[in-house]
Amino acid sequence: MVVTFPHCGSGWVPLKTLFDKHGIKCVVPPKSSKRTMTLGARYSPEWVCFPYKILLGNMIEGLDMGADTVLNVGGAGLCRLGYYSKLQEQTLRDMGYKFDMVIFDWQEAGIVAMAKFIRKLLGNSWGEVISDIRFGLLGQLKLMDEIEHRVQWIRPREIDKGAANRIWRGAGDRVAAVQTREQLKSLRRQITSELDAIALDPKADPPKVALLGEFFMALDGFCNMDIEEEMGKRGVEVVRTAWLTDWAKAWLLLDMLGLGHGRKVKAAARPYLSRDVSGDGVNYLGETILLKHEGFAGVVHVMPFTCMPEVIAQNILPKVIEQHNIPVLNVVLDEQMGKAGLVTRVEAFVDLIQRRQCRAAS
Ligand code: SF4
Repeated sequence: MVVTFPHCGSGWVPLKTLFDKHGIKCVVPPKSSKRTMTLGARYSPEWVCFPYKILLGNMIEGLDMGADTVLNVGGAGLCRLGYYSKLQEQTLRDMGYKFDMVIFDWQEAGIVAMAKFIRKLLGNSWGEVISDIRFGLLGQLKLMDEIEHRVQWIRPREIDKGAANRIWRGAGDRVAAVQTREQLKSLRRQITSELDAIALDPKADPPKVALLGEFFMALDGFCNMDIEEEMGKRGVEVVRTAWLTDWAKAWLLLDMLGLGHGRKVKAAARPYLSRDVSGDGVNYLGETILLKHEGFAGVVHVMPFTCMPEVIAQNILPKVIEQHNIPVLNVVLDEQMGKAGLVTRVEAFVDLIQRRQCRAAS
């Protein structure tokens, strides 16, 4: 068995370690790129949402590198995500690939479904499965998220622009190479001291902006054209609301028990949208309101073209903006996107945020 899987943020890190540890060959597809996008778009229905095309492109690249088993997510849902996996599997077979597709239904039973999925895939004991999940989610993914949080904080404050990014770009391979808690602790110390050594501008007082919207687009730097970096180097601290560890905690565990942050977000969104429209539509509205009250200077909303839940939320948004007085930059992305246009809009938005900050201070 040679396993591959599409990218979703830092998710590849614990997956690679898991397969390496159990002696299963695993092919991590190259980081999503223009090639991935072109391949995915070529074999996708034109109308389908952008993440579908990128995920399909990742799978094609993984299969071309010798994989014979594809991991994918699927299951019931109100939006198109529910039938992504079936359509992708059929498309790949029509293209002539011979492979097995193993589907993880994350909505079925949260963390229990994940444990069963890993056990079936690797044939391990329950004890081993629980220990692997703890190491992957609470060890490796948590460390990746901690590093990225810190990098987001450093970007608008660093003197040598790009210094934090250089560490971030190599972090995934370093974290994927560790297999024990001790190694992980020592790597955490090393990376923390490298980040601490970056020289900061003591006069920097960056405004804080939240990046939110469709989960995959917010998480994937290639898909959102590195909007976090673009804002960071223009002196804005970007705080993303989509994190894989939060998703794991919320969707796989806390929401199952009715204790997740999701409850607060849904309550804030309720006056504007009271029913689940799938995807991140309700979350986007609720988070925009909560973030305004937490002192954020603005919101960047990223969504794929034709994404049904985000289109619903986007149409309700003007009312939220009017009542809560928060600037929003709405970015709709697909394979036709161009970076120059985005940079111009980012510059105008940063200018607006900084002027509001100056006005509030005077
Ligand atoms: S949330 Fe939007 S982009 Fe994501 S799968 Fe559903 S329709 Fe597509």
